[in-house]
Amino acid sequence: MSCASKSAAIAGVPVVRPGGRGGARYELDEEALRRVLLRPGVQELPAVVVSVAGAYRGGKSFILDFFLRYLTAAPPSQLSGEWLGIEDEPLKGFHWRGGAERDTTGIHLWLEPIVTTTSNGEKVGNPYTSCNLKTHFFWLTHTNVAVLLMDTQGTFYSDSTIAQNSAIFALSTFISSVQIYNLSGNIKEDDLQPLQLFTAYGKLACEGDDKAFQTLLFLVRDWASPYEHAHGYCGGATLLSKRLQSKPNQNPELREVREHIRSCFDSIKCFLMPHPGHAVEKQNFTGCLRELTEKFRLKLLELVPSLFDTPKLINGERVRVQDLFDYFRKYVDIYNGDEAPEVTTIYKATADISLLAASRAASSVYAAYMEPRINGPRSLSRRVLADAHAAARASAEKVYAQKKKLGSQTDVHDRLQELIKELQASLSHYELSNDANVRKTVSLARKAYDTAVSN
Ligand code: GDP
Ligand code: MG
Repeated sequence: MSCASKSAAIAGVPVVRPGGRGGARYELDEEALRRVLLRPGVQELPAVVVSVAGAYRGGKSFILDFFLRYLTAAPPSQLSGEWLGIEDEPLKGFHWRGGAERDTTGIHLWLEPIVTTTSNGEKVGNPYTSCNLKTHFFWLTHTNVAVLLMDTQGTFYSDSTIAQNSAIFALSTFISSVQIYNLSGNIKEDDLQPLQLFTAYGKLACEGDDKAFQTLLFLVRDWASPYEHAHGYCGGATLLSKRLQSKPNQNPELREVREHIRSCFDSIKCFLMPHPGHAVEKQNFTGCLRELTEKFRLKLLELVPSLFDTPKLINGERVRVQDLFDYFRKYVDIYNGDEAPEVTTIYKATADISLLAASRAASSVYAAYMEPRINGPRSLSRRVLADAHAAARASAEKVYAQKKKLGSQTDVHDRLQELIKELQASLSHYELSNDANVRKTVSLARKAYDTAVSN
């Protein structure tokens, strides 16, 4: 079958859409977000959130579909490189297309988180990488994580307002663990502008060794000077160090970005991608491998496997898939406020959610201790129940204390008091259901006794 004869469109789930006030507000589709994030068996896993942001018609959705292909391939073909697929397979997943009009608007997530395994820090080389960077590795020991793929609006220099552009870029950076900043041709001076917010935020949020964000990857498409800086991570590293150098005649704000950006992200990388070949300009191009140049394919093999090993962290703590729901809600609310968001407001929101996540983890520990006792075959005396509560509460408080938390001492203390109240309320609930069990047992025993006596 010819490559061009098959359809290539499925699309992701729009979770944030431009809404009122001429597109300057955002609507969060909570129902859609719930369907993606709150899935049994997945919602408790650490989240790896990979976002691609940048100007429209820059090939973002197109490359995301290769991420999808990699993530859904069997592990042996991930290792051998066969995940790239067969020559005549059209590229499917997030909707991408030719032409000059924008396609994706707002933020789209892939239909479901994709469960995969990451290494626990043991590194081996990616056979496709062209240089010896330590950043590429395949897993050796196993930790399950859930990867979320995020496609963003990216109408940077088109009909949307600056506020709209920077909001989507900011939202996706705050929520992701790997922000891929997709650029055409080069890293230009203006491209650094959207990073200003993160340096300001980073200064506020850095505590100890924990940086505010994890990975920022400049992905330069159609890099045309490989003799100067080679394609791939190697050439990317040398180009990046040149672009991030401070010089006296630079715009002072962008000089500050250059000086501080490294203190906000755990890792800043750059990858130089070759042009995919002139087939991309044809109207009936469906993204089949056959139509992509050998160079482009080789660089996909280097780039794609390197992207999914960075869990989302807030203050050094892994964020679970279900916790992302609160992050989306809070951040979208902030961007819908009347004022331009201040970094302090964003910091406060992040701190609130980090405390909520710590207290949720503590509540889960409490419930895991209590539930099997309450639902066991025998009802318990009030005294035994009170002892169980005391032990479960102690474990919960320990977990809360151990979790790294953002926020002031007062906020941390207040959230602990809330947690203790919630656990006390759970105890009352357990007591009621235990009393009902006791009554049921007594009534069954009485019935059995009456039956035995009457016989
Ligand atoms: P998005 O708006 O950034 O999501 O862009 P799309 O993924 O929809 O792609 C827009 C167009 O760019 C499509 O016709 C793709 O075939 C084409 N395209 C994809 N990747 C590349 C690339 O690396 N270079 C060039 N020049 N075009 C690309
Ligand atoms: Mg797109």
